[in-house]
Order: sequence, then C-alpha cells, then structure tokens
Amino acid sequence: MSTTTSTTLTFDGRFAREFEELAVPWQAEEAPSPQLLVLNERLASELGLDPALLRTPEGTLMLIGNRVPEGATPVAQAYAGHQFGGYSPLLGDGRALLLGEVTDIHGRLRDVHLKGSGRTPFARAGDGLAVVGPMLREYLVSEAMYAMGIPTTRSLAVVATGRPVRRETMLPGAVLTRVASSHLRVGSFQFARVNGDTELLRRLADHAISRHHPDAAKADQPYLALFDAVIAAQASLVAQWMLVGFVHGVMNTDNMTISGETIDYGPCAFMDAFNPGAVYSSIDAGGRYAYANQPVIAEWNLTRLAEALLPLLHEDQEQAVALAVESLGAFRNLYSTAWSTGMKSKLGLGAEARDDEAGPLVNDLLAMLEEGQVDYTSFLRGLGSAARGTPDAARTMFTDPGAFDAWTKKWLALAPDADMMDRVNPVYIPRNHLVEEALGAATAGDLDPFHRLVDVLTQPYTERPGLERYAGPAPVDFGSYRTFCGT
Ligand code: AMP
Ligand code: MG
Repeated sequence: MSTTTSTTLTFDGRFAREFEELAVPWQAEEAPSPQLLVLNERLASELGLDPALLRTPEGTLMLIGNRVPEGATPVAQAYAGHQFGGYSPLLGDGRALLLGEVTDIHGRLRDVHLKGSGRTPFARAGDGLAVVGPMLREYLVSEAMYAMGIPTTRSLAVVATGRPVRRETMLPGAVLTRVASSHLRVGSFQFARVNGDTELLRRLADHAISRHHPDAAKADQPYLALFDAVIAAQASLVAQWMLVGFVHGVMNTDNMTISGETIDYGPCAFMDAFNPGAVYSSIDAGGRYAYANQPVIAEWNLTRLAEALLPLLHEDQEQAVALAVESLGAFRNLYSTAWSTGMKSKLGLGAEARDDEAGPLVNDLLAMLEEGQVDYTSFLRGLGSAARGTPDAARTMFTDPGAFDAWTKKWLALAPDADMMDRVNPVYIPRNHLVEEALGAATAGDLDPFHRLVDVLTQPYTERPGLERYAGPAPVDFGSYRTFCGT
C-alpha cells in the first residue's frame, strides 16, 4: 500500500472481497471524450496521489474508472432503504461504483467512489448517468462543508464525459470522484436484515466498528455500543447542519452514513432567511425533509437502523427491542446538547453561560429572525460586530429594530466574546444564488466563477476584502429557490 505521493496508487478491494453479497463487480461506462473540470489537489495529495499525474489523460481516465488502477475491483454496492418513508428492500448503486479503498497519508482507509459512471444492475429505469451541474454542485457544497469543519464525504474531481445526457433538456454528462471514510449506510444494514442474513449483519457490524467506531469493540456489548456511537455521530452531525442553516433535502435511510459523514448532496441548500419550514427539493412536496424536521427524521432513520440491528443486540427479541429503545432515548438529549452548546458559541457565550439565561435568549432571537425573515448567516456574522460595539450591520437587517435593541441589551449583559463568534459563524457559505450562477456558467463552458467560488468557500470564517458579493444575502429578485432531484 502506498503511503507517500507516488505515480501509481495501489488500491485495496477490501469491501469487494469481504462483502461479496453486497458487491457486484462492474465496470464504468467508457466516456467518449473525458475532460477534467476540477481536481482537488490538496485532497489528492492527502490520498497519496500525485495531482500532476491525475491531470494527464491517463490520470483522468483513472478518475472515472476507465483505466482501473492496480488493486481496484470496481463494484456496485447493494443496499436497501426507506425513501420518503416508503421501504425499498433493494436499491443499490444505480449509477455509482466503489473503485476501492486507499490508505491515505495519515494511515486512514478511504473509499474512492464514482458517481455517474453508467448503468449498473441496480439502475432500474435510470440511465446511470450524471450531469455537469449537479456534480459540480456536490463538489462545491461538500468541500464547503469540509471547510466549515462539518463531517462529510469529499470530492476529488469532476470529469466531463463528453456524453450528452437527457434530462429536461440535453445536458453535458459528468462523473464525480467521491472520497468517503466508507459508504456504509443505514440501508446497508437494512439490506442484510431484510435478507435474513444474520451472519452478514454481524460481519457488517464488525466492519463498521473497526472502520468507524473502534471503541465499541471494547464495550461489553459491542453491537449495542456501535448503535450508540452511530446515534451520537448523527446527533452531532445534524446539530451542525442546523447551526449553519443546511437543509440536506433527501434524508432517506440510504443517504445516512454509519460514519456520521454527510453524504449524497442532491437537492440540498443553505437557507437564506431563517425559516424552520425551509424546503428546497422539488420532489419533497410534503416537506418531510424541511429544515426543522431534520433532527426528528434523523431519529426516525436511527430507529430503522435499530430494527435492522435487533438480531445482534439480544437473542430474545423483546430484550433486544428494550435495549434499542433505551439507546434511542439518548438521541434527543445528545442532539439538544450539541445544538444548544453550538448556539451559545454562535452568540459568543461560553460553557459557563447558564442555560436558563442563554436558552430563552436563543429562542427569542430565532423567533425574531423568523418574524423579520432575516438572513440567518449574515445576521449571525454581523452580530459579532455588535459584540464589538458596532451593531449597525445586524440592526439594519430588521425593518423595525426596536425588538432587536431590546434583545441586544439582554445579550450584551452576558458579555459575549466576539472572537468566539467569528470562529463559528461563517462569512461565506454556498449561497443558492452564487451556486446557481457558478453552475450556470460552468454548464455553458466557463469554469472561472466556479473556481472562484470554491476558493472563497475554502476559508469560510475569514472575512477578506474584495469578497463582499460572496457574503451578502440573495438579491431580492432571486425568488423562491428549488433544486431538482433527478440529477
Ligand atoms: P439518491 O436519492 O441520489 O441517493 O438515489 C436513490 C437511488 O436511485 C440510488 O439507488 C441511486 O443509485 C438511484 N439513482 C439515482 N439516479 C439514478 C440514475 N440516473 N440512474 C440510475 N440510478 C439512479
Ligand atoms: Mg443515495
């Protein structure tokens, strides 16, 4: 296994080898005219890959699975899942392949995965393809999440295939090369369970423990400890989404990882004006995955994971259920604590701030933001200046600043720390109007706005002169934003 930057990278095929029941060997479709649109050089180096090599025609072919690197055994992964609450016992990678795993320069095992690489046996009616806009979108948003310090899959590259793809119109095709600490999801366990294969379930759980939650191995009941660890990881993850105003958009159980990384950036968006009901996905008519529902949905998904894990928790089903219910009971507290602590930091209040003072302050603020339809991200960043004695940026966001003044008086009495606020309130997020502008230009062949935006989002917490247009709310004529899932 290569541990330094080298000209050839050796892949492992651990998942393919150990989980034959879940891995269908498959080849990526040949791209007629591959063109590298974006390469994440820092991530490449972290994986031990030479960026210069990846930029060659040969390297580009490797990035889309058209030249299979040594040791790689591309597979489509099988999984089940609840989509919008309805259960599908067989989903699987319809347009994606796991190329294999690599050991990065820190010694961590990482999946290298292709999205948009052609039809697989799981494709059903789908064409197996992806298009440039949505793949660049995943690149942009996942890298922005990473820069904000939120656990996420990463994006190594987007390659245009040269193949036109039929959507509402004909659009240029692309493959995203995705990197993840693994692609194990709630749906992987649901698949093992629905097929009644307890031995497979146990091997999957052992694999998840060794890869993601090694402390669970030392517990009296390792599988229960694994479940607890996933609950904790997801409670923390969803709290972080909520704190930055992120709406995932399609929290199906096949899109929830065991590692606790955000995965599958489809119809996701960051909200502008604070709105608990914010929904951006064109297919989420009922608002199941609305902003404020996300913690509840995470808990619902974890309950589906519990059902899948039951045979491992106890041989007696009733006792297994009792154990699972007890573990699930921790989710709300873990989530609330993570969110409240995060919210306190966003207001510059440390752990010493009393919850009975900070709590009402937070609630009043959110009610005020909702009422005034105030831009969530700009307001919180502007509030840092208010802590330094310059309240105008935040104050002028309200048409009637009276309530803000009254709130500010109470808040300032708690002596907020402005530097703490600047460390957790981003200046730059992937705002919908900026993302659309960058993707529109890229689809038409101009990648400059995309590269500039990626660059801005790499340092989300550091305000830089000249980047004002990236920090402000959407223009008033941007209207109500919708993104589409049929990507
Ligand atoms: P997602 O909501 O993107 O996670 O996708 C849900 C399921 O649909 C997964 O099994 C995907 O592999 C499959 N899928 C999505 N788009 C396509 C497509 N264009 N062709 C084939 N399968 C697809
Ligand atoms: Mg998915």
